[in-house]
Amino acid sequence: MSNPIRLVIFGRQGAGKGTQCAHLVERYGVAHISTGDMLRGAVASGTEMGLLAKKVMDAGDLVSDEIINGIVRERLAQDDATTVGFVLDGYPRTIGQAEVLTEILGDRPLHAVVDLDVPLEEVTARMKARGRADDTEDGIARRLELYEQETRPVLNWFAERGLLVTVDGFEDEDVVTSRLEEAVNAAIEAPCC
Ligand code: ADP
Repeated sequence: MSNPIRLVIFGRQGAGKGTQCAHLVERYGVAHISTGDMLRGAVASGTEMGLLAKKVMDAGDLVSDEIINGIVRERLAQDDATTVGFVLDGYPRTIGQAEVLTEILGDRPLHAVVDLDVPLEEVTARMKARGRADDTEDGIARRLELYEQETRPVLNWFAERGLLVTVDGFEDEDVVTSRLEEAVNAAIEAPCC
């Protein structure tokens, strides 16, 4: 069997991370680990953590690093993540999360962190069009602001560690998919991993 693939996909809200992750799952068989989906699942099933998270998510704020790191740590220990590998979507979003992720992975480091780059005006329009519960005008503005404040520094953090690959995401879906695959192939074939 081939070796596990370990990826993070980055990008502003509305950049198409979820859509492109579905393609990565199909192409590489990796587990799609979306912290947003996991949190929405917890909200839907009414767990204590879900109730806590709902308030934070509705306000467009970030769930605490402690909660998120715990969820991801457990998920990464599951069989699919350790055997076929994974693509993390929506995590890490703070430097604190990036540090914990690095610690969790230990001697099985990431192959790449791919940034799906889409202009601000475009992602704003896309989010308004999709109309998810937290896609209110204020919610969108708040999340994009937090992205710049908290998450942009994480990109730089990964760039300093030589892991960042930027893919232009402002194209048709299939064009973005092939660019993404090219980037992933280059990363997994690189001698370092
Ligand atoms: P978006 O990218 O549009 O914010 P997500 O589905 O990735 O959508 O996340 C939805 C919400 O879940 C976020 O606004 C935030 O409240 C919470 N969330 C998801 N991932 C994280 C994370 N890594 N750290 C903190 N909060 C998170």
